[in-house]
Amino acid sequence: QLSNRLLTVANYIPPHSVLADIGSDHAYLPCYAILNYLAKKAIAGEINDGPYQAAFNQVARLGLLSKISVRKGDGLSVLKKNEATCITIAGMGGTLIKKILEEGKEKLSKVERLILQPNIYAIEIRKWLYENGWELIDEKILEEDCHIYEVLVAEKGVPSRSYKGVSLESAFLMGPFLIKERNETFLKKWEHELYHWEQVLKQLNEAKETDVLIKKKSEIHHMISCIREVMK
Ligand code: SAM
Repeated sequence: QLSNRLLTVANYIPPHSVLADIGSDHAYLPCYAILNYLAKKAIAGEINDGPYQAAFNQVARLGLLSKISVRKGDGLSVLKKNEATCITIAGMGGTLIKKILEEGKEKLSKVERLILQPNIYAIEIRKWLYENGWELIDEKILEEDCHIYEVLVAEKGVPSRSYKGVSLESAFLMGPFLIKERNETFLKKWEHELYHWEQVLKQLNEAKETDVLIKKKSEIHHMISCIREVMK
């Protein structure tokens, strides 16, 4: 059985997809997608030896080697052009997910849906999607094992459409769908973030001022006002 986090990702895989799961580790997600008829074929990509072996062993153990191709390599470089129709990238930081998308842009031509689950810095992904012609079509936030996770779902479209009626900067940071839904997990996350950044600012205010510090403080100030704007 998949974790709730990966189940939330899997629920967005369109039927009959050719799925590429990048950073697949044990390949739990592609195995689930094939066994539950969400994907007709899958590729499990891994950069590191240990997780690559774990993925291969899991796929072999379940007898799915004819349906899931386990490949070793960096990001989307494991894919052929026009191969995948759906890409999942889960359990990494937003900065790394963004880098993988940016470096693999030419592999996205036939991709209809991206399902991305950053552990931190979802803002980096939302900005990249916005600048690269991808429209957010949904978002989820969930708590599992004392961590709060976000899932971002995007399709090619009109990026600005999902940001209608919300302040762009707050929405890049906190998520346009999540802001509108404002569920308990969302409020918990941002109350905690607000407290954290206010404490950081307090400490920085006591330190000796330098140009770098002034810039940092103004960034944090700006972020705090974005959060306050949504939480008020
Ligand atoms: N996707 C799984 C999940 O959500 O449970 C595994 C997440 S695990 C924390 C991150 C995995 O991404 C690791 O197995 C790591 O080896 C792999 N990884 C990191 N950078 C990568 C890259 N550039 N290309 C492919 N895999 C990468």
